[in-house]
Amino acid sequence: MPSRSLETDYLVVGAGAMGMAFTDALIDHADVHVTLVDRRHAAGGHWEDAYPFVQLHQASVFYGVASTVLGTGAVQEDGPESGLQERARRSEIQSYYDDLLHRRFVGSGRVTFLGGREHHTDGAAQLVTSRVSGDTVEVEVRRRVVDATYFSPTIPATTPPPFGVADDAPVVAINELARLDAAPRRFVIVGAGKTATDGIVWLLSNDVSPDRITWIRPRDPWMLNRAVVQPRPVVALGLAADTMSAAAEAESLDDLFLRLEAAGVMLRVDRDVVPSMAKTPTLGVWELDLLRTIDDVVCLGHIEHVTTTEIVLDEGVIPLAPGSLVVHCAASGLQYPPLVPIWEPDKIRLQTSRAGFPCFNAALAGYVEATRDDDRERNRLCPPTNLPDDPLSWAQMQVRGTLATRAFGAEPDIAAWANGCALNPARIEPAQRDDPDVQAAAARVADVVEPGLARLAALAGLPLAPSGA
Ligand SMILES: Cc1cc2nc3c(=O)[nH]c(=O)nc-3n(C[C@H](O)[C@H](O)[C@H](O)COP(=O)(O)OP(=O)(O)OC[C@H]3O[C@@H](n4cnc5c(N)ncnc54)[C@H](O)[C@@H]3O)c2cc1C
Repeated sequence: MPSRSLETDYLVVGAGAMGMAFTDALIDHADVHVTLVDRRHAAGGHWEDAYPFVQLHQASVFYGVASTVLGTGAVQEDGPESGLQERARRSEIQSYYDDLLHRRFVGSGRVTFLGGREHHTDGAAQLVTSRVSGDTVEVEVRRRVVDATYFSPTIPATTPPPFGVADDAPVVAINELARLDAAPRRFVIVGAGKTATDGIVWLLSNDVSPDRITWIRPRDPWMLNRAVVQPRPVVALGLAADTMSAAAEAESLDDLFLRLEAAGVMLRVDRDVVPSMAKTPTLGVWELDLLRTIDDVVCLGHIEHVTTTEIVLDEGVIPLAPGSLVVHCAASGLQYPPLVPIWEPDKIRLQTSRAGFPCFNAALAGYVEATRDDDRERNRLCPPTNLPDDPLSWAQMQVRGTLATRAFGAEPDIAAWANGCALNPARIEPAQRDDPDVQAAAARVADVVEPGLARLAALAGLPLAPSGA
């Protein structure tokens, strides 16, 4: 039974990147009170449990909330990413969210944060139970419940390995690499995604020689070249033009990705394998060069189980040398729940509308919630877009995302807001519009977008008209 109750306009469940970006845009554009709940004791979501050496995969300015830029917007001047935008480390992201939560949100008196508390329901009652005291509070919500957990990623620190682990088998989550007491003789990195590549790059950067690393890579991944995801209109328009040009000419999904690779957009580790995985995390070319130094790559499918002496996979068994450490980097990361309308009678379920960029999309939803008063219209402006897993779902994401961008971008106030929002990867500030390079890049996009989108839709098996249109 609830011990007490409190009232609020919005109950936002999840103080991760999406809940924070939504709340920030909402309170900036509407005079409302928000109660933000998270089972974690701080804001920032999965970053609280991320491995210590994690960095944003993309530019800092694309991450966080609309009102407050993360980082300085500086371009790196030395190191392997010279010329590319800075990327925040975990501690900077945590401190950014902590500051935002306590100074801007709670300090304004318009946000109440209930950290270390679990949200649950009992019939229509919205309940929040402290994980410390066990007390339950009922939250009376005047306007909306907002589910900011729908796209919450899974990470190794909080998700057990997706394979069996025998007693005493030397399996750890990637976080443990930074807490080793003694150096293992070998490292077996398990996973084909961004976490695995981060683990390998970190080991190599810590003087572990490549021949001490085994990489268990069930699927080969396509990854996005970080150089083409930069907050500069010429780069963003160039990416759009390259994508649509490749699509217009593509004979198949594989052919599309190979064309994107030739255009410098996509990267793959092994040039002899056409990847089947396309979550498309962002990678630097310097990281790719390091990854290619690993010769002991095991492509025998997924692991079934690990014992103290061997690793049993779908398609074979490999011995586990004494002194090896098996590093779990195999949480799925992105989630793929069914796409549902963002605005439904009982709740708002935050999802992406334009392709990728969860922070921009959550901020957009906050802006649209504050500035529109009809859910049908809100859903027309912000249809949901899936996250990618393979080439087909990547193409579907591009088609859905492009149609969504057209829908919200056609509204003058949203276009103006988005062009002033650093989170927006397609942002063009008014002063940049007359730049001849920007105009040339925009003309390139205009030339290819229609044939490219039509072919992309055919490859994706999707109609071109938004549903309901
Ligand atoms: C290693 C890594 C690097 C990434 N780098 C980038 C990047 O550079 N750029 C980019 O755009 N994206 C990046 N992403 C993706 C991006 O961070 C995520 O997709 C997105 O930001 C996740 O935010 P979220 O709010 O959806 O989820 P989360 O961060 O998981 O937040 C959801 C919160 O909800 C809380 N919660 C869930 N259920 C309940 C409940 N019942 N009661 C109370 N609280 C609850 C959880 O405790 C959690 O804190 C990265 C992801 C990972 C894993």
